[in-house]
Amino acid sequence: MPSLPPRLAARFEQRTGKYTSVVQQTSRLSEGLALARFRCDQFIGKAVGAGEHIGVRVSERDFRHYTLFQVDALTGEYSVVIDLAPDGPGARWALGHAPDQEIDMPAPAGALRAGPADRHLIAGDATALATVRALLDGIAGASGHATAAVEVPTPDVPAVAALLSEAQVLAAHGTPGRALDAWLSALLTEGFQPQQAYLAGHAASVQRLRQTVRARAGLPRRAVHTQVYWADGRTGL
Ligand SMILES: Cc1cc2nc3c(=O)[nH]c(=O)nc-3n(C[C@H](O)[C@H](O)[C@H](O)COP(=O)(O)OP(=O)(O)OC[C@H]3O[C@@H](n4cnc5c(N)ncnc54)[C@H](O)[C@@H]3O)c2cc1C
Repeated sequence: MPSLPPRLAARFEQRTGKYTSVVQQTSRLSEGLALARFRCDQFIGKAVGAGEHIGVRVSERDFRHYTLFQVDALTGEYSVVIDLAPDGPGARWALGHAPDQEIDMPAPAGALRAGPADRHLIAGDATALATVRALLDGIAGASGHATAAVEVPTPDVPAVAALLSEAQVLAAHGTPGRALDAWLSALLTEGFQPQQAYLAGHAASVQRLRQTVRARAGLPRRAVHTQVYWADGRTGL
């Protein structure tokens, strides 16, 4: 998302901000994760779904993307889970925004959707918890079977296990994505044969996991769905 001079950022927010949300409350789920709750009356009765992305102005100049974790179409309330690891404008906004603050944003869009299949593989990191939650729910709703893992820093493991009880929650160690690499490799060695794969989060990890699942499980390109949420040395994806 863009970083703009403050006057242009305000104009960009006004021009693209068709939906107005109000901050309800932000709480700390764990050392590295915040749960931010909002209300948007324009969501009431609309088919806005968990897993869709919003673009938010997080400072005078900066915009960042987040993913809807839970949405209540009756009340317009929704939440996002924010990884505090980056310590950029987005993470600072997550901890600093005040209740009743108003946010203008474009229509939510862009969720990863589960394709028709029986066996699904899902892998993500701390930025992809909402995406993983939405995929797990979508796959269960279509009577499919999901094998999922998320990689998060060790202090966040218990909180994430409570959010995603169907997924394996792996403690990150060393380079991002290494715990997911080991998990995927072991799974494929045991003979697991997914029909659809969803990989989300850190760019280089998503790329490695994608190569592994295509090479070792023989999945065609169209069966591997990826979304990159952050990249080394890049701000504001
Ligand atoms: C479509 C989309 C949906 C997203 N949904 C979510 C979501 O639901 N929850 C969520 O937490 N994030 C989500 N992200 C990622 C989130 O937008 C970025 O993590 C965020 O932009 C980081 O903002 P920042 O201002 O704190 O750091 P930035 O200023 O963007 O980055 C500062 C530095 O930290 C590094 N960095 C960025 N992100 C991370 C990270 N996660 N871990 C470690 N280092 C990092 C960068 O490489 C950079 O060097 C999403 C991104 C996209 C594109």
